[in-house]
Amino acid sequence: MQHPSGLKSYQQTYPLYKDTLLDASLKIGSSKFILGKDFIVTPGTADNIDLKSNQIIFIGYGIDDKNYDDYGAKNVKGKIVAFFAGEPNLNGKSLSSGLARNAQWSTNKKVILAKQKGAVAAIVINASMDTLSKTMVNNSRKTNLIYPRPVSAEAEKVPYAIIVNNVAKNIFTESNFSELAAKAKAGEPLNNNNIAINLKTKFSYKKRQIPFESSNVIGYIEGTDKKDEYVFLTGHYDHLGKRDNIIFYGADDDGSGTTSVIEMAQTFARAKAAGNGPRRTIVFMTVSGEEKGLWGSEYYSDHPLFPLEKTSVDLNTDMVGRTDLDRKIGDSTNYVYVVGDDKISSDLKTISETQNKKYANLELDYKYNDPNDRQRIYYRSDHYNFARKGVPIIFYYDGMLRPDYHQPSDTIDKINFDLMEKRVRLIFVTAWEMANRDNMLKRDIALPALN
Ligand SMILES: [Zn+2]
Repeated sequence: MQHPSGLKSYQQTYPLYKDTLLDASLKIGSSKFILGKDFIVTPGTADNIDLKSNQIIFIGYGIDDKNYDDYGAKNVKGKIVAFFAGEPNLNGKSLSSGLARNAQWSTNKKVILAKQKGAVAAIVINASMDTLSKTMVNNSRKTNLIYPRPVSAEAEKVPYAIIVNNVAKNIFTESNFSELAAKAKAGEPLNNNNIAINLKTKFSYKKRQIPFESSNVIGYIEGTDKKDEYVFLTGHYDHLGKRDNIIFYGADDDGSGTTSVIEMAQTFARAKAAGNGPRRTIVFMTVSGEEKGLWGSEYYSDHPLFPLEKTSVDLNTDMVGRTDLDRKIGDSTNYVYVVGDDKISSDLKTISETQNKKYANLELDYKYNDPNDRQRIYYRSDHYNFARKGVPIIFYYDGMLRPDYHQPSDTIDKINFDLMEKRVRLIFVTAWEMANRDNMLKRDIALPALN
């Protein structure tokens, strides 16, 4: 078999980047404001900008919703808009959504709407912000790592500056601003205030994109008579890293899955050395960026090194070393949650249950298989990136969502190795059957749409 060209030794690298702000300036009328003291910008929003406008249009909270509209007949095309953060509410309920929760309209959502309305930039006012905190200023100078995705037209935003109240007073005049800010603090509607400010505004910023790289680690055992078909075994090797000086160990999430993939690779390699190599090629892939948003598996599934239509299955292992404290039924030392075996291929369940009965005898728990389950586990690990491309998947999982989940206390002393071994044995014998049976798994069930 030819070594796939996108594979450098054992690694498939993929690009990431951070945006760093180099400089920004905001001049309104004759006043020039100071970056970091009077205003901040977020470099993640757009390319470098350098724009001028003769008018700032005040648009209340910047909302257009079924029960509440700040835009009305205001023409904001080609203009800079100014709005307050937050949303109007009455008796604890949001006026725009009618919901008790007041978090429907983030700044992000508002600057997307402003773009759709034709505005060129936005000025965001927080009624109770007199100064900028150091953290705000530092965070605004650089973005976190970003996975490069094309921005869809629906997600495009206008560039925006967040200003302190002194700047707002400068724009609106002090008395007008005091009146508006008092209303905003009280959550009163602001959609009847038709204010157009005829001040020349110049707004610019420059940023620099700094490239980074991450990688998926891939090894494979070549098959025999069906070597051009593939069985994937996956887990993610990233976790949350360090915050301040606290280490997030991620023993279960997903040290357990990463070591499972390695153990299975060693076992399949031993079997091959003993003359029992798999008929299909087995690919062992540990991915990075899972905790950031399934980056590594997204990249792999968009840049596959082995054809996805010849990939019979992905068996993904993410957290298999512990016991779900909320599971009150059955034997807590002899179960695994099995997710996805009723989707894409009707072969999955039969093989999974038959192999379990013959070799593992675990309680197969289908609780998280319900697409309406509020944890939405089906969409939350790397198998989903195979599923969205039509590859049948099974996801193996221990259900441990408390109390150490994504905490520094997810440590190796809490792993139940006897239980983990039983689970990995099931995954191994399932992969064995899938690698050696006569046919690839058929694809006869449509994947339910992501909602
Ligand atoms: Zn995980």
